[in-house]
Amino acid sequence: MRIGIPKEILAEEKRVSATPDTVRKYIAMGFDVSVESSAGEGIFLSDDDYRSAGASILSDSESLFVESDIVLKVKQPVFNENIGKHEVNMLRDGSILVTFLHPAAPENHEMIKRLKDKNITSFTMDGIPRISRAQRMDALSSMSSVTGYKAVIMAANQLPKFIPMIGTAIGTVKPAQFLVIGSGVVGLQAIATAKRLGGVVKSLDIRQNACTEAESLGAKVIEFDIPQEVAVGSGGYAKSIESEWLVIERKVISPHIEEADVIILSALVPGEVAPILVTGQMVSTMKPGAVIMDVSVDQGGNCEITEPGGFSQKLGVHICGIQNIPGRMAVHASWLYANNMYHYMLNLFDNGSGELNLEDEIVKSSLVTHQSVIHHEGTIKAMGC
Ligand code: NAD
Repeated sequence: MRIGIPKEILAEEKRVSATPDTVRKYIAMGFDVSVESSAGEGIFLSDDDYRSAGASILSDSESLFVESDIVLKVKQPVFNENIGKHEVNMLRDGSILVTFLHPAAPENHEMIKRLKDKNITSFTMDGIPRISRAQRMDALSSMSSVTGYKAVIMAANQLPKFIPMIGTAIGTVKPAQFLVIGSGVVGLQAIATAKRLGGVVKSLDIRQNACTEAESLGAKVIEFDIPQEVAVGSGGYAKSIESEWLVIERKVISPHIEEADVIILSALVPGEVAPILVTGQMVSTMKPGAVIMDVSVDQGGNCEITEPGGFSQKLGVHICGIQNIPGRMAVHASWLYANNMYHYMLNLFDNGSGELNLEDEIVKSSLVTHQSVIHHEGTIKAMGC
C-alpha cells in the first residue's frame, strides 16, 4: 500500500504530516511512501531529505492524491486554488484519509458528505480518545499545547500595550489583563505563558478539576456555580450544557470581559460544536484595541462574531479566527504531529500493513466515514442525520 504525504495548502500552514524519520518507519512497516515536492519546506526539510529516507517525490499534487491508497494530512481537505479542484475530489474513490477533519464544525459538513459519497474511509485525529494507550497518538493534546503557547504570543504581538507591569520615570504601567475561558490543554498552556509574560490572568471552566489546575498555575478562577453532574460527562470530560446554563455563564463572564485586554477562548466539548460564550453584544463592551483569540474556531468558535480564517477588527476589538495556529510554529508542531500520526498508523494497521483494524476502540472513535456511511457520533448529531 502507498502512503501519500501532500503539501498542506491552507493559508500560512507550514506543517507537514510526516518527517523523514517517520517516513523511514512507515517503510519499515511495509508501506511505500510518496511525498509531494516541497511538502517539508515550511519546516526547512528538502525533497532530498525525504528521498534519502526512502520516499519517492512527486511534483504534482493531483498525481500524489490519485496514486495513494492512504493520504496522511494535517488539516481538513480544502479547495486547491492552483489546481482548481477540491482535495476531496483528488482523492481516489475508496481510498483512506487520516487528518484533522473537525467533522462536527458546520463549515465542514459539506466536505464530510463528499467524503462519504466518494466512499473514502476517513479518520479524524481529533477523535482519538484520551485513554492511556492512546497518549502517543494524541495529536489534539500536542497541537493544543502549541496553540495555547502561540495564541498568547500572537495576542501579545497584536496588543498595543506592555504585558508585564513596567516601572517608568513617569509612572507605572499596569500589567495586561488576560481572561482564559476553557482551562483544558490549550487554556492551561495559555495561562502558563501569559503568567510568564507578566500578565494578570483570570480563568473560567465548567469542570472543577480544570479550575483547580488553572489555579495551581497562578490564574484567579472566576466562580461559576454549575453542578458537576450538569457539566461533566463520561471520563471526566465536559458535557454540552443546556442553553439556560449558557445564559447564566455569559452573565458570569460579562463583567470580566469589560476588564480584559486579551481573551483566549478555548472552551470545547469533545466532538461537538463549540458553545457560544461571548456574544457580539458582549464584544461591544470590551476595551478598544483589546484582542480575542478564538482558538475554538475549528469547532465553530466560542465567540458569536468570529470570522474563521484570520484577524478581523469588529466593534474596536481584534478578533482572531486563525484556524491553524500550530501551523505558525511548524517545526515543533510537525515533529509532534508526525510522531502522533505514526503511532496512530501503527495501531490502525496492527494486523499488518495491508489491513485496517476497524474493531479497535481508538480506531472506532476516530472513524468518520466508511463504506459511504457517516460513523462519527458528534458529526451525526451536528448534521442532524
Ligand atoms: P477540550 O479541548 O475538549 O476542552 C477544553 C476545555 O473547555 C475543557 O477543560 C472543558 O471543561 C472546557 N469547557 C467546555 N465547555 C465549557 C463551557 N461552557 N465553559 C467553560 N469551559 C468549558 O479539552 P482538552 O483540553 O482536550 O482536555 C480536557 C482535559 O482532559 C484536560 O484538562 C486533561 O485533564 C484531560 N486530558 C487527558 C489526557 C490523557 O489522559 N491522555 C490527554 C489530554 C487531556
